[in-house]
Amino acid sequence: MRGGRVAVVGGSIAGCASALAAYRGGAEEITVFERASEQLADRGVGLAMHNARYAELEARAFLDPSMPWLQLKRRCWYVRDGAEPMGRLVGTLPFPFRTYNWGPLWRELRDRVPASVDFRAGAIVERFELGGPGVELTTAGGGTERFDIVVGADGYRSTVRAAACPEVRPQYAGYLAWRGSFPVERLPDAGRWPAEDCVYAVFPGGHAVIYRIPDGRGGRRVNWVLYSAPPSDHGLPLDSPTSLPPGTLTDALRDRALEIADTQLAPFWGQLIHLTEPGELFVQPMYDFSAPRYASGRLVLTGDAATVARPHTGGGAVKALQDATALESALASATSWPEALAAYDAERSPIGRGMVELGRTLGLGLVQQTPDWSAMDQNGLDSYWQQADGSGTFGGHRIP
Ligand SMILES: Cc1cc2nc3c(=O)[nH]c(=O)nc-3n(C[C@H](O)[C@H](O)[C@H](O)COP(=O)(O)OP(=O)(O)OC[C@H]3O[C@@H](n4cnc5c(N)ncnc54)[C@H](O)[C@@H]3O)c2cc1C
Repeated sequence: MRGGRVAVVGGSIAGCASALAAYRGGAEEITVFERASEQLADRGVGLAMHNARYAELEARAFLDPSMPWLQLKRRCWYVRDGAEPMGRLVGTLPFPFRTYNWGPLWRELRDRVPASVDFRAGAIVERFELGGPGVELTTAGGGTERFDIVVGADGYRSTVRAAACPEVRPQYAGYLAWRGSFPVERLPDAGRWPAEDCVYAVFPGGHAVIYRIPDGRGGRRVNWVLYSAPPSDHGLPLDSPTSLPPGTLTDALRDRALEIADTQLAPFWGQLIHLTEPGELFVQPMYDFSAPRYASGRLVLTGDAATVARPHTGGGAVKALQDATALESALASATSWPEALAAYDAERSPIGRGMVELGRTLGLGLVQQTPDWSAMDQNGLDSYWQQADGSGTFGGHRIP
């Protein structure tokens, strides 16, 4: 297929990649509507990407080596052991993952969106009229435009998904992720922690995942995510997905993270929470869902708009980028819009469902029904992980 008008709602990871996909897939006019008027590059923390998934995305020209990254090699599982600074090493597992800093990664993707794409920052899409040829899209200012297809890359609270699959209800998982990052120079004795080690600091009822990320300017940051249940007085509205940006945490939420740091994590790992300043700390309640279809009429879903799996899967950004590669192939090989969207849906929606299932299984074993870590050794860890990731899709599915 060549030609046609494509709207992309959302200009984050999935939005930039979807615009690139539409361009390479042959669309003639592409418009990106992004709610944020400021640069997204100043926001975000770390993400990790499996080496093999990276290689596939590099081969499809969605990522390249000049995007700042760091290489990890192994995952070290530590459990608190009295005053032992690092805790007891339960065991290690291979971890061939690269780490990225969300902001610089977004900046690089944004730079690769072709100049012919009309990228409108500060443009909020409000609704769609689905009758007639294509879709009529209305923005917050009241302006309307008609497109052949609309790609919903507008994240977990997607307006496009609300129109395409109104029955989807994100499910609260029952626990939170506290997240933080800070310059590595702030960490005393950083040499005790090898740069290629990703740490899982495990405890009854949760764990912290800790690794270094590039800062995008040649330096490094410590990046951590702590998963556990909220305190009873959390004050969060949990009926629909939300997140508390840096600097807005209540005392109860911050105190709970510090309490876990002091009572559940070994001292070296617990100090990371203390070293994180309020403006570097935020909270995301965990939700998941998968849209039952990735395309409905002329509306298409990519990235978090289509599926949010719990982050234990290590594959959120990979999935968003893979969605874009599939969209490109579908647009390039089909002879009509409906054919392209049906092919895209058939390829990607089962993968979204699979990632949600994996996230739930990992959430059980890592947060909700944790094993007795204090009694576990390397053999126990090997069989625990084999059971937890039975599908072998931790880090994302292989691109077919
Ligand atoms: C600022 C920011 C920082 C992030 N930082 C991290 C991180 O550090 N680590 C991590 O693992 N994940 C991070 N994420 C989430 C991560 O990007 C996603 O989980 C995943 O990569 C898929 O991205 P996405 O593009 O589908 O969704 P998102 O990244 O959520 O992007 C959705 C985009 O759509 C825009 N949008 C929403 N509604 C409308 C509308 N009606 N009209 C126009 N635009 C709209 C939003 O402003 C947003 O830019 C971040 C997301 C954002 C927006």
